[in-house]
Amino acid sequence: MSVVRIEHVYKDYLLGDQKVQALKDITLSFDPGVFLAIAGPSGSGKTTLLNLIGCIDTPTSGRIFINDQDVSGRTADELADLRNRTIGFIFQTFNLLPVLSAAENVEYPLLQRADVTKEERQRRVEYFLDIVGLAKFADHRPNQLSGGQRQRVAIARALAVLPSIVLADEPTANLDHKTGEEILNLMKKINRSFNTTFIFSTHDKRVIAKADRLVRVDDGEISALGVRSESRWSLARNRRSTDVVAQNQQANN
Ligand code: ADP
Ligand code: MG
Repeated sequence: MSVVRIEHVYKDYLLGDQKVQALKDITLSFDPGVFLAIAGPSGSGKTTLLNLIGCIDTPTSGRIFINDQDVSGRTADELADLRNRTIGFIFQTFNLLPVLSAAENVEYPLLQRADVTKEERQRRVEYFLDIVGLAKFADHRPNQLSGGQRQRVAIARALAVLPSIVLADEPTANLDHKTGEEILNLMKKINRSFNTTFIFSTHDKRVIAKADRLVRVDDGEISALGVRSESRWSLARNRRSTDVVAQNQQANN
């Protein structure tokens, strides 16, 4: 089983009368429990790819499977329901609601879930705030928290729906290096403890170095795939010619 499978996906945007080809013929499949980085320069298509995987947007053509279910051609309501049950999101700018406390922010996505009781909501809020080390900050509003603490709240919020996939779009881009590293380490710890799939985008080499798998995108196309064992990457460059495998290429080359 794959947690995400993408087959020949294209995504075009219309900008006035200009067509922007944001993704071109993307085919990928990820196993459950991966800790995977989508790397590439600004404008390469990382956010577009995450939005498609997260069912926030739909491809122009091609098919996407989440937990082996074809999500192509579903209605907006069906996609919203799938999203609420399956996917947790973490954003570069944290996207917390400023008028809500940390606990209320974590609880928020669960309010849309009729099948989760109030007691269960409270249990999850307490549990996941504790996991991210913020038990003492439950009543704090976002503006009473540091950037790193805000991102921890966002991680707890993403986990509270018990997602099979957490998608994080440049989760460390607004954090200093040390805090970013702590956030990555926390995500990895959760990945290891719960086997939650994490897919995150980044253009930071130090963040890429923390991933176990790597998809490199350039100009809307996959330019390399990487698998890390111990501290070394095996990179298959130019995915179309899979014979070109640069063994033991270091991540920061
Ligand atoms: P990244 O996240 O890697 O910076 P994006 O996925 O945001 O890249 O963008 C990929 C390409 O698609 C860029 O050329 C960008 O300008 C374009 N693009 C992204 N979103 C839109 C949109 N809503 N309308 C038009 N063009 C867009
Ligand atoms: Mg982006």
